[in-house]
Amino acid sequence: MKYQSTRSDYTTSDLEAVVKGIAPDGGLFIDPHVKSIRFDWQGCLEKDAYGMAVQILSALLPGYENMEALVNSGYSGKFDTDKLTPLVQVGDDYVLELFHGPTAAFKDVALSMLPQLITAAKKQLGQDETTLILTATSGDTGKAALEGFRDVEGTKIVVFYPDGGVSPIQRAQMATQRGGNVHVCAVRGNFDDCQTGVKNAFARIAEENLTAGKGVELSSANSINIGRLAPQVTYYFIAYAELLRAGKISLGDKVDYVVPTGNFGDILAGYYAKLLGLPVGMLICASNSNKVLTDFFTTGRYDANRDFYRTTSPSMDILVSSNLERMLFLASDGDTELVAGCMRALSEKRCYEFPQELMKKLRESFGAGSCTEAEAGEAIKAVYDAYGYLMDPHTAVAWKAAGEYKAESGTKAPVVVLSTASPFKFPTAVLDAIGEAADGDEFGQMEKLAGVTGLEIPKGLAELRELPVLHEDVIDKEDLIDYVLSKF
Ligand SMILES: *Cc1c(COP(=O)(O)O)cnc(C)c1O
Repeated sequence: MKYQSTRSDYTTSDLEAVVKGIAPDGGLFIDPHVKSIRFDWQGCLEKDAYGMAVQILSALLPGYENMEALVNSGYSGKFDTDKLTPLVQVGDDYVLELFHGPTAAFKDVALSMLPQLITAAKKQLGQDETTLILTATSGDTGKAALEGFRDVEGTKIVVFYPDGGVSPIQRAQMATQRGGNVHVCAVRGNFDDCQTGVKNAFARIAEENLTAGKGVELSSANSINIGRLAPQVTYYFIAYAELLRAGKISLGDKVDYVVPTGNFGDILAGYYAKLLGLPVGMLICASNSNKVLTDFFTTGRYDANRDFYRTTSPSMDILVSSNLERMLFLASDGDTELVAGCMRALSEKRCYEFPQELMKKLRESFGAGSCTEAEAGEAIKAVYDAYGYLMDPHTAVAWKAAGEYKAESGTKAPVVVLSTASPFKFPTAVLDAIGEAADGDEFGQMEKLAGVTGLEIPKGLAELRELPVLHEDVIDKEDLIDYVLSKF
């Protein structure tokens, strides 16, 4: 199976694509023939969650010899339900809870699998270098990656997060991370600085061949790795199968999904589900005040020259949305020159224009909406008051976009809102929203939230306060490469 770069005709195998993470020309690896994969999507819907994951991952990454074993070791015992991502009815609509894994955020679905995929690929390829995973995080990826890779043989992981740019709980989750192969480092800057720093580190280390003779290979756990994207396709099928089983839809009915979006990985997985045959209707891309994607879908102009806001949904505080690159590739039928040109403009001028005729094609599958801080808070309160269901601020952004989409389109069909984090990860914003005083530190607030709502704090969050801090490094963004080199 051939994968190729989104920016050139550089090709590699699916196994190599997972191990490398990113193409040497800075492009993202993609299967150029993903649109013509033959897939028994109806058969897939009859399986349980693990079975769906096996079938989907085998289709997208056919080079693996034993996907069933990988899925079992990736997920067994890590999620609090064998459904992986349960679907909950809330009013007339549905919330797909993606936060039942070890770190209470949706990234666990992919990052429980990625270490399995990387180590199995290396084994099949006969590679025995240590894989050094470099990851930039706006909060949730970091912890989920650390947890996924902790003490996985033949791997080391370095996570960079924006100093002061993640919530106290997210920070505590990372700073207390155990494991003999993990490094965590704060960077003075925002998430885009971390992400750019990591990309530059990859580029320079490759250019100057700095890994030579070190027994180290670099890879990425960011959603630019195809091994991150592929496992996320599963829960679009899980939601559809649940709706079928509950008799809410008939086989073949289209279902719309609304996705709180930052780096465009989660929603792109929805598009992959559609390519595999799942009757996906519209995919609604929901942004917070950093609404660069909403503006892109409206105008065709991607423009990161704008104020950056720190919001109550920090995992979506992103201006350079890296997975959109794959969508540009797919929308242009693999026009690598066009994609490379857009990405060059993005890095030089922080903006690009995508051709209007291709935007028209994109808009057949994607809608977009944005949500202010006040609106997110109002959505949390309205849903809690009306249905007793508590959403986190990221989910609230999507809920608001869902309401707008339903009003504008007039659709009577249920929509599925993807819920990307437990409300307990963001207790200050959630308490504020439901009109309770958010006094004291976040740990006290979690307890208060549990008391007020009668809900249980996820286990991984409840124990945080007692754990010792093990990581305290803070660096300037210019020093990121040196920090990486010091971990070889
Ligand atoms: C990462 C994250 C998102 C955004 O997902 P993308 O794949 O980057 O679009 C949304 N919500 C939460 C809680 C996240 O952790």
